[in-house]
Amino acid sequence: MRISERLARIKPSATLAVNTKAQELQAQGREIVSLAVGQPDFCTPINVCEAAKAALDDGFTRYTAVPGIPELREAVAGYYGRFYGAKAGAANAIVCNGGKQVLYNLLMALVNPGDEVLIPAPYWVSYPAMVQLADGESVFVPTSADDGYLVTLEGLEAARTDRTRVLILNSPSNPTGCCYTQAQMEAIAEWARRNGIFLISDEVYDRLVYAPFEPASLAKTWELYPETIAIVGALSKSFCMTGWRVGYALAHEDLVKAMTKIQGQSTSNINSIAQRAAVAALNGPWEVVDEMKQAFVGRRDLAYEIITGWGAPCPKPDGAFYLFPVLDKFYTADAPDSAAMCTKILEEVGVALVPGSAFGDDKCIRFSYAVDDEVLKSALAKVGSVLLGK
Ligand code: GLU
Repeated sequence: MRISERLARIKPSATLAVNTKAQELQAQGREIVSLAVGQPDFCTPINVCEAAKAALDDGFTRYTAVPGIPELREAVAGYYGRFYGAKAGAANAIVCNGGKQVLYNLLMALVNPGDEVLIPAPYWVSYPAMVQLADGESVFVPTSADDGYLVTLEGLEAARTDRTRVLILNSPSNPTGCCYTQAQMEAIAEWARRNGIFLISDEVYDRLVYAPFEPASLAKTWELYPETIAIVGALSKSFCMTGWRVGYALAHEDLVKAMTKIQGQSTSNINSIAQRAAVAALNGPWEVVDEMKQAFVGRRDLAYEIITGWGAPCPKPDGAFYLFPVLDKFYTADAPDSAAMCTKILEEVGVALVPGSAFGDDKCIRFSYAVDDEVLKSALAKVGSVLLGK
């Protein structure tokens, strides 16, 4: 089979690969606990499901406008107005197949061949692959557990060249759960604007930020620089809608048009029924998201205590539902890196985790704590028994 050279350079998504492997083992009858893929264990809220059922009963099953139905684009703009005070309209909103397609469309719309894209590392698995698909070049800006996995202006400045076109900032971060303050985000946005760099602010975990940390978003200042910032959001995590595939962006009208062109030539509109459900989600009520958030706080504390109890350095995350501890001191001759250690843990005790190498840091392993307390406790005890050799 002759596959394009472009594709030969791209690795499959590690998060999805681990998830598939865990499902295969489960299908073979193995008892597997997955702390791998970032997927809340709660159900999609009832009012959202009901809106979808009503859409189906109404026969709302045909093509829609490519960037989304008008009421959904209004609801996206309204969401950013309600929570962050952004004065945006429906023309600044586009709805895509999950946050992933938002990012893909953005990079395809912004990057020319050879353009450099700054990516603070550790980073979410699909950023570099998407940059490659857009014929750009990823330039990684390293951060470490010691500095809370937060990039500094000095780090960004050291990585900047004449070819730097885009910076992808992700807060709360996948895989670290670390968050930038509003002041830090704005300083980075100002640095990017000053240097003619477009800033993609991936904020898909924006509703999962844990007190006392103050939720931050560039949507708060978006209208100051609408030509240099796009905000990326999604319903997957906040509303437990991973399978529905609803992501969105707040961006300049011209950029929304460019993204619409790409989407119109690739996937068209997202699922019509999911769009009606998304309107119901975005228009509230929001209490249900806060209830889930409370559960995540408890799980974060539980997982953090157990993992740091192993003596593994790990900044305490203020958001998302991941921990990214440094575990390389536990690597062994038969499991000398994060991928081999994850395979060993999966085979020996049936717990699926994603190797840090997929996120650009082989010293670490990512733990998703989006499972209930008892499952989490027992899974971590099993992982601890492999790592500590007990
Ligand atoms: N974003 C989630 C994760 O990192 C979902 C999987 C994916 O789309 O890569 O686990």
